[in-house]
Amino acid sequence: MSIIVQKFGGTSVGTSERIVAAAKRAVVAKRAGHQVVMVVSARGKKTDELVSLAAEMSSTPPAREMDMLLSTGEQESVALVSMAIHELGEKAVSMTGAQIGIITDSTFTKARIKSISTEFIQEHLDAGKIVVACGFQGIDGEGNITTLGRGGSDTTATALAAALNATECEIYTDVDGVFTTDPRYCPEARQVQQISYDEMLELASVGAGVMHSRSIEFAKKFDVPLRVRPSMSDGTGTLIASQGEDNPRVASGLAVVKDEARVTLSELPDRPGVMSSIFSCMAAHKIPIDMVVQNVASEGVAEVSFTVPAGDLAETLTAAEEAIRQLEAGRVHSGTNVAKVSVVGNGMRTHSGVAAQMFQTLADIGANIEMITTSEIKISALINRSSADDALGRIHSAFRLGEQQPNPPAIGVRQRAEQSHEASAHDERLRAVVGKLANMEDIVVSEVLLDEKQARLTIHNLPDRPGTCAELFTAVAEGDVMVDMIVQNVSHNGAAEVSFTIPRQDLERCLLLVREVLSSWDNAELSYAENIAKLTAVGVGLRTHTGVGERMFRALAEEQINIQMINTSEIRMSAVVEASNGERGLKALLRTFGIES
Ligand code: ASP
Ligand code: MG
Repeated sequence: MSIIVQKFGGTSVGTSERIVAAAKRAVVAKRAGHQVVMVVSARGKKTDELVSLAAEMSSTPPAREMDMLLSTGEQESVALVSMAIHELGEKAVSMTGAQIGIITDSTFTKARIKSISTEFIQEHLDAGKIVVACGFQGIDGEGNITTLGRGGSDTTATALAAALNATECEIYTDVDGVFTTDPRYCPEARQVQQISYDEMLELASVGAGVMHSRSIEFAKKFDVPLRVRPSMSDGTGTLIASQGEDNPRVASGLAVVKDEARVTLSELPDRPGVMSSIFSCMAAHKIPIDMVVQNVASEGVAEVSFTVPAGDLAETLTAAEEAIRQLEAGRVHSGTNVAKVSVVGNGMRTHSGVAAQMFQTLADIGANIEMITTSEIKISALINRSSADDALGRIHSAFRLGEQQPNPPAIGVRQRAEQSHEASAHDERLRAVVGKLANMEDIVVSEVLLDEKQARLTIHNLPDRPGTCAELFTAVAEGDVMVDMIVQNVSHNGAAEVSFTIPRQDLERCLLLVREVLSSWDNAELSYAENIAKLTAVGVGLRTHTGVGERMFRALAEEQINIQMINTSEIRMSAVVEASNGERGLKALLRTFGIES
């Protein structure tokens, strides 16, 4: 029989009526023929209240007692939900973290799951009961109650769904689902029916608050379809699965960030170790760095730019000055009047011309692009803040994001893997789930990739005005060349510089196309490298890239590898190095991030 996990957040069980509504959801699913496991959070602001109460007792409450206290919030919820289900005529059993077999280490208040045993749950399910499990808690080897860190119920729900091989994990919450962009800024924003794990992760700044990024990454690893659904209405919400909407469009969502500032370190020496020093200084000051961009150096001089939360600008400038003193070279510039606009979509993997269209739309509203960075499925441009709202609306319609999907989503819930009754297959799955859980909090980087099949082109002295990037990338797209990494750093004296990578086999064709557009710009010059190596760290929580950048650049510096280009997204950080350094760089990064090759 298929198993469905339903997770209810605090607001979804905040009042008696909502508890009854949650109970009804489970009963409906049960009567539709599923086995149902509910994972429930503490009601409303209960956990916050308990935290404040503890603070009234002590400024340093013992962590063990803290967990004893915090875990009561969820216990209250599950008992009440279970009673409501009984009242509706179905059998239910509420269970604590210990009772559902979640064994953790003893790191109170942020414990890691060490093992899960699903036998108890399965017995109850097989006896026809709805299991109502406490989210967020477990028990350690000595029998102490532990909690998994704030927001931990998402972790409990996705972990149980993976361990039980559930067909779907429904996340009931107080929003209707995932939107193409923030409806507060763009009235045309539309709720999407289906989105892929990666798109969801790249849209973190739009999806923020809907779900813990780490739970999405976890669901992705085990291919657990997640459905974010409104608890207060009948909406079907948004399915987060391995594929997005069956979509003729290339983009699925848009994000805008308006509260960041830009910092540039220019006139840096072009040698190994420079990025490492800069990122170490940033890490020492705990600066959460977002968009990082480094373009190919010219005349032995390198330059790096990044964005940071506007509130951290002063501290960032202090750290930058420190880096420059250490390096005995360089200058610092900054700007606050900026906004980052990003287009995300799985379709970009297979379509050329997405960048061209985005840049053209920005050109049409007269927005000059200050910085560009890309990932496989995302393009981000830094523009003037005053153009941000206009840009959002225009890009939203340029990519036809507001139009309803004519076709229903291509895939629904996954086919449940053939249930093997052999204990070994089940145990193996459990071991994999638990192994991954243990890494969830500490390892940010889950994968390191080396791509040696690309070539790089750089256009120097590009006129710094709206429309040049649009022209350039339209020309490239017309030749059907798939552009991978695009990097543009801030411009100086009216001249910008853009680099991009393409499949090496397309180099000749691309050079012809680019030379042709270039002839219409007076001072523009082209350089290229036929062989480059691109190293990418993939993971979750890279949004603040400081720690990852620090480790990545230190590892490359120790190998005396010079970094030619850098770009970043929410889930990846890439560096281009000389082709001959690729293998060595890969090994160094695998070692640094503790990943087995
Ligand atoms: N009740 C816990 C918290 O508020 C866990 C959760 O809601 O996911 O952090
Ligand atoms: Mg909560």
